[in-house]
Amino acid sequence: MTAKTIDGNALSRHLRHEVAERAALLRERGITPGLAVILVGENPASQVYVRNKVKACHDNGLHSVLEHYPAAMTEAELLARIKALNADAAIHGILVQLPLPGHIDAHRVIETIAPAKDVDGFHVASAGALMVGQPGFRPCTPYGCMKMLESIGCDPKGKHAVVIGRSNIVGKPMAMLLLQASATVTICHSATADLGFHTRQADIVVAAVGKRNVLTADMVKPGAVVIDVGMNRDEHGRLCGDVDHAGVAKVAGHLTPVPGGVGPMTITMLLMNTIESAERNAA
Ligand code: NAP
Repeated sequence: MTAKTIDGNALSRHLRHEVAERAALLRERGITPGLAVILVGENPASQVYVRNKVKACHDNGLHSVLEHYPAAMTEAELLARIKALNADAAIHGILVQLPLPGHIDAHRVIETIAPAKDVDGFHVASAGALMVGQPGFRPCTPYGCMKMLESIGCDPKGKHAVVIGRSNIVGKPMAMLLLQASATVTICHSATADLGFHTRQADIVVAAVGKRNVLTADMVKPGAVVIDVGMNRDEHGRLCGDVDHAGVAKVAGHLTPVPGGVGPMTITMLLMNTIESAERNAA
């Protein structure tokens, strides 16, 4: 078997077209959806991420504000900026790029963002809403993974899904979204005794670990759908995922590439959440 590729770039283009249409409809009503992106410090990877997010807004008819502060910014100053953005009617989404410098409590920062503008979906109120099945913003990466499943007609209902990783931003919300979609869900992590035992039973595997080759061909059920969230570097410095792509592609039914898989979907779902916020605000 050769796995079909789930092309995150193509799906993103399609969904961003929808974003641009919804943004145009809002603009006709005098509302320009607005995203504020806050970056503190000079982390080079973070600078690339925020640039990509701002560009994606610009390309799809959203207004964006990039606020870049020196690493010496105090927590109090950052919280004050977030409170000002919470009160700014032109801003429908607020994103604080992580990681933050060590002297700033990221949890306190996220909890200061108004849940109505929490387009990253990291606020405890958003996590709680997901847990109890209430409307709220879904974290962009797992939300994008769900869209990828939908795009290939894979309904998780009744399927066994194994999520590898239990972080608050990927693994846990991913598992909750799959559960909400009526999958039977297993969550694996660094203390899981026999990872392959679990993954071999899975119809859907989502790998969100941050280590190369965590999932190899012998750990995958023939025909399974495999979503690779990981972002790592190989020995040549090239971007790669958590999955042994060449090996798993021979066994899986569908597989996401890295790059060009989950990565572009994450930014697309950020745009979606921002549009959704502006639409709710306008309703
Ligand atoms: P994280 O907070 O470091 O979490 C990693 C998880 O993997 C933890 O739950 C950890 O278990 C588990 N783990 C570590 N080693 C393992 C092993 N050998 N077997 C099974 N589980 C293991 O990372 P994250 O923020 O969730 O991100 C995960 C990966 O996704 C990273 O590569 C990140 O760069 C990537 N990512 C990509 C996107 C995108 O847009 N493409 C977005 C977000 C993240 P414990 O909890 O027991 O430590």
